[in-house]
Amino acid sequence: MKKLSLVIPVYNEEASLPALFERTFPALDKLNRPYEVIFINDGSKDKSIDLLKEQHAKRPEQVKIIDFNGNFGQHMAIAAGFEKVTGDMVVTMDADLQNPPEEIARMVEKFEEGHDVVGTVRANRDDPFYRKFFSKIVNITTNKITGLKIHDYGCMLRLYSRHIADIIAESGEGTTFIPAFAQKYASNPTEIDIAHSRREKGESKYSFFRLISLNFDLMTSFSMVPLQFITISGMLISGLSFLFAVFLIIRRLIIGPEAEGLFTLFAIMFFLMGVLISAVGIVGEYIGRIFKEVRKRPKYVIKKEYGISDGKA
Ligand code: UDP
Ligand code: MG
Repeated sequence: MKKLSLVIPVYNEEASLPALFERTFPALDKLNRPYEVIFINDGSKDKSIDLLKEQHAKRPEQVKIIDFNGNFGQHMAIAAGFEKVTGDMVVTMDADLQNPPEEIARMVEKFEEGHDVVGTVRANRDDPFYRKFFSKIVNITTNKITGLKIHDYGCMLRLYSRHIADIIAESGEGTTFIPAFAQKYASNPTEIDIAHSRREKGESKYSFFRLISLNFDLMTSFSMVPLQFITISGMLISGLSFLFAVFLIIRRLIIGPEAEGLFTLFAIMFFLMGVLISAVGIVGEYIGRIFKEVRKRPKYVIKKEYGISDGKA
């Protein structure tokens, strides 16, 4: 029987955790296969860690905890979990029960059919309107820019084969967006529809600005298109102004000078500005690449681990 590892990032979720335990463990027991649940406490300031420790005491074999030294973000928490998983398949899930843990069974079925990544699309997504609208734009543009095909980047109830989880854990990238990363290396991905409900307890951990920054991570870590866009617009501007300058020269020869050469000056100015912007874009491309290479900060810092053995199975 293939073993399942469930990875759950937890950030100030004391209100959601009791219900999470109540539904998740029975759903996992029903699968009739060995499993482990790795909780990553992402620097919660509430009682989350105590609640997790209680569960670890109750089920020391199955419940493992990685306690972060601070808040490093949902995706880093998941990456830390991936480094410690021992199962053959890895499922990620949010702690807030917006996606039903009972659906894990259907994802496992897909895995058994031979899919190495099982993504999910939130059917009847029940979130505030602005979040849905924003997600739509992000899903469409990100697919265009990265060349990936994921219908719902935001839904984190996903299954990965151990092989894919290992690739993600070993990549060592500091800013990464796990669903996109997995899709990139998957050989046989699939997607299923999944139920979604509004958050019942606690609040969303993503403010508007945090969402923007997360999506910026998503775009910049998977393509150079934003930078290339600057370069190309710079080139376009210089091309157009060049044509404008030619037009002005011809006009001057045929009709004579316009208002003391003012517009000729404009044309030259615009041309130079275009050149400048493309130059900044090109330099930016290089800096972007160098930046990616040199940034070797620790991705996260672990305070303590519970139930995690050093040798990976
Ligand atoms: N989370 C985390 N660290 C963070 C932000 C969120 O570990 O810095 C966890 C959070 O506890 C939850 C999951 O990531 O389990 C998704 O967060 P949330 O439900 O707030 O996001 P939303 O559903 O609003 O997109
Ligand atoms: Mg949520």
